Amino acid sequence: MTPRRKLVLCVIDAMAPAMLERAVKAGDMPVLGTLMERGLYVPDCVAAFPSVTPVCAASIVTGAWQDQHNIPAMNWFKRDENRYVEYGSSFRASQRVGISRQLTDTVYNMNRSHLAADPLTIFEKLDDAGVRTAGTTYLMYRGRHRHQPQRDSALTRLASTLLRHPVMGPRELFYADIFASRQAPCSSTLGMPGVRDRHSGCVCAYMVENDLFDFLLLSLPDNDWYSHKRGPEGQLRSLASADLQLARIMDAGGGVERFLEDHAVIVMADHSQVPIEHKISLQDELNDLEVLLPTRPSNRGSGRGDKARIAVCPSQRAAMVYVLAEHRHQELRSDVIRRALQIDGVDLVMWLERDPYGAPQQAVIARPAVGELRFMPGHDVRDTRHARWNVAGDLSVISAQLDGHVLSTPVYPDALGRVWAALLCETSGEVLLSAAPDYEFVDWGGQAHVGGGSHGSLHASDSLGALVMYGIDSTGQERSPWAIRDIASLIELHFGVGSPAS
Ligand SMILES: [Zn+2]
Repeated sequence: MTPRRKLVLCVIDAMAPAMLERAVKAGDMPVLGTLMERGLYVPDCVAAFPSVTPVCAASIVTGAWQDQHNIPAMNWFKRDENRYVEYGSSFRASQRVGISRQLTDTVYNMNRSHLAADPLTIFEKLDDAGVRTAGTTYLMYRGRHRHQPQRDSALTRLASTLLRHPVMGPRELFYADIFASRQAPCSSTLGMPGVRDRHSGCVCAYMVENDLFDFLLLSLPDNDWYSHKRGPEGQLRSLASADLQLARIMDAGGGVERFLEDHAVIVMADHSQVPIEHKISLQDELNDLEVLLPTRPSNRGSGRGDKARIAVCPSQRAAMVYVLAEHRHQELRSDVIRRALQIDGVDLVMWLERDPYGAPQQAVIARPAVGELRFMPGHDVRDTRHARWNVAGDLSVISAQLDGHVLSTPVYPDALGRVWAALLCETSGEVLLSAAPDYEFVDWGGQAHVGGGSHGSLHASDSLGALVMYGIDSTGQERSPWAIRDIASLIELHFGVGSPAS
């Protein structure tokens, strides 16, 4: 049997198809240009909803949406601990919940307890099959190999009491300055934005030179940071920098031609971004419903924790509301929905209706001044991903088109499947919101990216990312549209692990 090619999965955070195409056309991304020319280019790979990095990263590594993997958003309310979880919407938002709590949730708890044990991650599946796995700093790293934190890095010195626990990751793990399975000559400078790609490129070049992996997850996150700051146009520069890191890694393997002889490569976005002009403060809009305020662990008991009736969780261009009060729970939820539909910039409001026994009955998507669409898994119509649904109400709510029995929703890609997964997710809030293009929800640190870019909504504008595949056999796997959760099964197939996707 001929040995399989090694495989590099490169996630370029927020890589917008239009920006990729422009940068390639301008000759600023020679490596991506080559991969697109020789491989398969998909300009409309569908993100999870909310289209934010934690949800998408979990979907990429598990091949599932959050109804299975349980990572619901960038900011969410953990019911069993009666507190907010904040993965780092902004530095100020992290300060608001406490930096140590945010770091513990993001570095440890996200993989250890927030992410469902089943489904397995791609690292775990490949580790179990004896494939040599490797990963750079990425939100999702859960694998079968134990890694002790570095004792002597700047970051671990800064937070020595916090970052002292081992983690289970891929065979080779280089995570900021915290975990390093080997002494590579690379520093992550505290994982600061703008230099993280260089750290990823450095450790990957080292791993290529030393033949340390069969499967590598290479994360290049800086593009998202530049795009938030400068707007999607800013990606032209940061995508060119990302391409330089790919070139550096391929150079370590003898140059592009030589590298591609023994490596398959997938380069993908987790989501895209749109320019932001307006902000919505959902916390203020719903304030008189008694919103729970985030408190640092040391301040427990302060604020209005006991009488708070709702928790508000902004995740960039999506948001969730949790109804905390048991008394008049339904009325309170209706109140939240009614008010949400009156807020400028709220595009869609979504919730789940349950039968008297608590079983999910139907999902509702409502749009201000338009109406409601109700749906549930069923038989009446088939969406473009071949899922079947019963639908009732106003199709114009999601600009859906019905051709015979085929329902397409190009403005809100894979709308029914993604909304259903978000609503069924046991850690999601009771009411979900998606912002109109140009709008973003202010985070708990009071920050939004007005004048820059953002993402998170159900809308195509930030839900459709770029996907490029070279050396991957996707025969019989063609999807219309492709989604980020399809990639894990392609990787399994490549290594002959697991069963073909259904
Ligand atoms: Zn982002």
